[in-house]
Amino acid sequence: MTKPDFTPLKLFITGPTYIRDEAKAAGELPEFGHRDSENVKRMAPIMENLRRVALVDDSYQPMLINGSGSTAMEAAVRSLVADGETMLNVTVGAFGDLFGRIASANGKQCEQLRFDYGRAIDPDVLRKTLERVRPAVVTFTHNETSTGVTNDIVAVCSLIREFGAMPVVDGVSIFGGTDLKIMEAQPAMYVTATQKSLALPAGFGIALVGREAEEKAARVANRGYSSCILNQLAKARINQTLTTPNTQLVNQLWAQLDYIVNEEGVENRFARHAAMRAQTAEWVSSMDGFDLFAQDGHRSPTLTTVQCPQGLTVEQLKKGVKESMRARGYLFDPGYGKVNAEMEKAGKRVIFRIGHMGDITPAMLAEYLEELGEVLKAL
Ligand SMILES: *Cc1c(COP(=O)(O)O)cnc(C)c1O
Repeated sequence: MTKPDFTPLKLFITGPTYIRDEAKAAGELPEFGHRDSENVKRMAPIMENLRRVALVDDSYQPMLINGSGSTAMEAAVRSLVADGETMLNVTVGAFGDLFGRIASANGKQCEQLRFDYGRAIDPDVLRKTLERVRPAVVTFTHNETSTGVTNDIVAVCSLIREFGAMPVVDGVSIFGGTDLKIMEAQPAMYVTATQKSLALPAGFGIALVGREAEEKAARVANRGYSSCILNQLAKARINQTLTTPNTQLVNQLWAQLDYIVNEEGVENRFARHAAMRAQTAEWVSSMDGFDLFAQDGHRSPTLTTVQCPQGLTVEQLKKGVKESMRARGYLFDPGYGKVNAEMEKAGKRVIFRIGHMGDITPAMLAEYLEELGEVLKAL
């Protein structure tokens, strides 16, 4: 084989994220047949531990859908929005917009409610929109990865319920990083993926599906095949996937969930994420001219967005800062492209992101922040 010239980098982007050596090594566990008895040895604990990480009971069925987070979002839209119904796409950034793009691409009738970058969903504005639109389904993002904003899932879901609509939540970048409050919020369906706060390679969309979603899907036409949650549920209930999974990733997910639940402990994991948010905020306050970007009270436990001093350009972030950090062994996140392009065009101060999710430790983060501080001060 040709010798690769791949550079090992510590990933401080917002996904994919840093993978522990033990989680990598779990990919070396024996391959298996996905309809064989060996499959259930991995999948039964995976299903159980997904419930433990999500803190849900068996009223929610977890499922692994081949693909990634967007695949699970598409399954939700295709299975839950019926012909003639309106879906309301509530968005606070680029990943919120994605739900709307998926709806339109599937011919679903969709209205959008948008909030400014850095702001969370404002319940008063949402209420007025719900009164006007009267949607059947409402989608929103629990943790907006492009802006570092976490929405109040309990408050937003309960408001949506007041109007008889069904909440569907994208929690791709927060699952495994905090108490999701799903039992309290009662979304019809909650979706995530493996490569963010679960700290594994990408390869599965993960969904938690409530009974209500199952009943609704039976009344929706043209759900597709792999995007049909009823097809997926039939297999998930017997601890299988609908189509052939990446068996290496199944082994890794088995090992990683066991580590999260039985070694680190779910509550400790959540506390570690909260501590890294505080650690990053403290670093930002020590950096002259830099400020936290996300709305106070809605700052994400899994990533922090930092607003740069006026005059610092996206070009400087993408070239100077990113390449200096690469030379120091890190992959820096120069901000979400579309968001920064719009901010720069409007004459606003641009942002960069610090991913502190998954298996990154406070010690790793401290080193990273020190290096990044040096690079930014040298600008
Ligand atoms: C990463 C991300 C997605 C997209 O997920 P993929 O796994 O890349 O398909 C969707 N929503 C949010 C909030 C994300 O962070």
